[in-house]
Amino acid sequence: LPARYGAGEKSVWVEYIQLNAEYKPQVNLGQGFPDFHAPDHVRKALADVTTGPDPLLNQYTRGFGHPSLVKNLSRLYSPLFGREIDPMNEVLVTCGAYEALYSAILGHVDSGDEVVVIEPFFDCYDFMIRMAGGVPRFIALKPRPNAGQNMSSADWVLDEAELASLFNSKTKMIILNTPHNPLGKVFTQSELTLIADLCKKHNVLCLSDEVYEWMVYAPHKHIRIATLPDMWQRTITVGSAGKSFSVTGWKLGWALAPAPLMRNLQVVHQNCVYTCCTPVQEAVARAIDFELSRWGSPDCYYVSLARELEAKRDQLLKTLRDNGFKPTTPDGCYFIVADWTDLENKIDLSTEPDQYKDYKFTKKFAKEASVLAIPPTAFYSPEHKHLGENYARFCFIKKDENLALTDKLLREWN
Ligand code: PMP
Ligand code: GLN
Repeated sequence: LPARYGAGEKSVWVEYIQLNAEYKPQVNLGQGFPDFHAPDHVRKALADVTTGPDPLLNQYTRGFGHPSLVKNLSRLYSPLFGREIDPMNEVLVTCGAYEALYSAILGHVDSGDEVVVIEPFFDCYDFMIRMAGGVPRFIALKPRPNAGQNMSSADWVLDEAELASLFNSKTKMIILNTPHNPLGKVFTQSELTLIADLCKKHNVLCLSDEVYEWMVYAPHKHIRIATLPDMWQRTITVGSAGKSFSVTGWKLGWALAPAPLMRNLQVVHQNCVYTCCTPVQEAVARAIDFELSRWGSPDCYYVSLARELEAKRDQLLKTLRDNGFKPTTPDGCYFIVADWTDLENKIDLSTEPDQYKDYKFTKKFAKEASVLAIPPTAFYSPEHKHLGENYARFCFIKKDENLALTDKLLREWN
């Protein structure tokens, strides 16, 4: 493999999806996806599109995004961004948020450019930066020293001086992820202002991964960094239909950005992917239209999902606390990062050959307790992996019965 790929040869997703197939744990709280159905209107939309009267809905469509979808994304997001988003020039539909990230990074990062990455980070960022010839510069969120036992994701913070020290004349981009995978942190106005001020001072782009934009728990609020003063023109915002409508298998995402920034993404997209799945795009367009028609109602999926998830979060937090973990309460997203070190004397990790303790723990725990979680060191650069070793990441977008089964399994194991 080319040396520039760095650590990208190893993928936690490939490995843990395989482990799930091998170990067959009774509950899989690893990779983030719902184990329940998407809303009926979403599933029905795809069935209607593929079996409906228009033959062209099963054929290629416009490369940068199916017209009805880019139009409805503009209707959805224009009020949220406080500006008219041009559907034809400021929206790009992609194969999942993954491809939006890929097109943004490959489109903008040149050889030798530096990209600031906040740890823990969604693992593909590092690989994509290296693919582009860029140099990732990492800074870790760290728990406040006085956070105590019942930490929340807001207790994981950036050191302001350290962040500022990473910006220089080579810095091209910072990647922000809010709500944050895996910690569930929802960046506050003042944290975003700090980042925005550094971007403006050093003429840096912000790639804002907001795939969990709807999964935020009261009183926390999702703030789009592109809405901060003078940030629209330097921000690329990424979203995901998979996350928004609980259809991760549809692999449809988008980027929103001003036309001059979008051009670079279009060039990558038109030569790598060209056009995304037409029926899925038309179905997502219809799904957005339906949600807009019930905007403001408690049934709107963008708010009802978060309401359901908050109860699931609380249930899994209790299970983890009752069974010796020290979880961080997430203010958003659908993962819980929990410190497992109080359980170290109950589990023999010496049989697991892995380098990092969280890999050893999650594998042994899956075999013994029959619950699979993700090792967070996968979300750190080699030099900072020690910061993730004491933790495991559990996904809670699961049926109540599977969360109840998790509780039972952990009690039996304990
Ligand atoms: N960004 C983050 C932070 C994620 O957790 C994920 C995982 N779904 C993605 C991007 C990719 O999303 P998609 O499935 O739409 O490609
Ligand atoms: N975003 C999901 C997670 O973090 C899925 C990751 C993936 O499919 N690579 O678990």
